[in-house]
Amino acid sequence: MTTETRPRRPSTLAPPSEAVPPPPPPPRKAEPRPFLLDFVPLEGESDTRLARFFQRLREGQLATTRCPRDGALLWPPRVVCPTCHTEELAWVDLPSRGRIYAFSAVLAGAPLGMEADVPFAVGLVDLEGVPLRLFGRIEGRPWNALAVGMEVRVEPYDVGDGRFFYRFRAPE
Ligand SMILES: [Zn+2]
Repeated sequence: MTTETRPRRPSTLAPPSEAVPPPPPPPRKAEPRPFLLDFVPLEGESDTRLARFFQRLREGQLATTRCPRDGALLWPPRVVCPTCHTEELAWVDLPSRGRIYAFSAVLAGAPLGMEADVPFAVGLVDLEGVPLRLFGRIEGRPWNALAVGMEVRVEPYDVGDGRFFYRFRAPE
């Protein structure tokens, strides 16, 4: 059985004062990104136990966790040490400089939200003074003007919907 009703025609007999105004349209919400295609994680305290990482990024500082028992510097930041399984991890700030270990260019098939940026560079960067090699976008010059060994800086960037992530910037 169908409960479909036909739209009512406006009555030409009723005086305007008795006409029922249509309900206001619901407030328009920002279009959420499809979760499985959104590589930028949720950052709030209620979303992740790594919210401090994103808070430090907003303050301009890349940070990660270190295990105080075995000294391991963990990347990406963790909530449990993969070696000794403690959850008592410490937050430490990371250097803001590094050197390009390898890079490539995204010429097509960019992730959601980056379609208009093509072409752009991505790469692996060895951070200065710590045994960490991070993956990320590299800004600052065209991809074909980058070089292995070039010094880059870590910088936070505003994703545009209240979230922050990090990128690398090569000298222009
Ligand atoms: Zn540990």
